[in-house]
Amino acid sequence: LVQAQGVRKSYGPIQVLKGIDLQVDAGQVMCLLGPSGSGKSTFLRCINHLERIDGGRINFDGELIGYAQRNGKLHEMKPREVARQRRGIGMVFQRFNLFPHLTALENIIAAPIGIRKVPKAQAVAQAHALLEQVGLGDKAGLHPAKLSGGQQQRVAIARALAMEPKLMLFDEPTSALDPELVGDVLDVMQKLAASGMTMIVVTHEIGFARNVADEVVFMDAGIVVESGAPAKVLGNPSHERTRAFLENVI
Ligand code: ATP
Ligand code: MG
Repeated sequence: LVQAQGVRKSYGPIQVLKGIDLQVDAGQVMCLLGPSGSGKSTFLRCINHLERIDGGRINFDGELIGYAQRNGKLHEMKPREVARQRRGIGMVFQRFNLFPHLTALENIIAAPIGIRKVPKAQAVAQAHALLEQVGLGDKAGLHPAKLSGGQQQRVAIARALAMEPKLMLFDEPTSALDPELVGDVLDVMQKLAASGMTMIVVTHEIGFARNVADEVVFMDAGIVVESGAPAKVLGNPSHERTRAFLENVI
């Protein structure tokens, strides 16, 4: 579903991604690990074209991200084409950034009604089903301020799912949460993975990576240091840098 080839990205003189090659098949879960500043968030942002890449290419669902091919040349996509592509990709951030003035339900139905033009009754029914799915069936009418961080994050997941994405990107979805709230969010993500969703998850939750990921990728300083099955990368890493990182997070 996603193929990244030689993806490079710099901010001014600093090269943050130095040629990333990765592939995620439909229905697979990839967990991205790596130290702070290694480029994990930047890579996720490149996938949905929140950042433009300086080199390489990213294919998603049979199309190049952010570029269209015309007359054998690559052209940067127009904003509305980018928006169309982005609709197939859901993203959940570390901070839940729900709309504070809207209830949980209203947060979820806003984009389906506004962008996908789903009839309101249908969007509301879908939102209730999604709230059930994330364990918040009784919280539809509450504003974010009345929800715990973990509940807000689960609403954020439901909101992303309401756009019926083919791919879900998670950028450290639990690292801003109090420890006792992390499990509920990871449970929702695990169920989502079991339902067949394709996911790329940046996380420091090694247990989640071990149990849920099909592939674990360790990044450092803008490169993929190693990747493979969780048991291999987490249990018996080939590289000293991976080993040193894992010793610090476990
Ligand atoms: P963390 O684990 O702390 O979230 P990360 O692996 O997600 O780290 P990135 O956020 O991708 O790392 O950042 C990689 C590097 O790019 C860092 O050195 C960061 O300072 C730099 N960087 C990120 N965004 C920008 C930006 N908009 N402008 C300039 N530099 C940036
Ligand atoms: Mg980050």
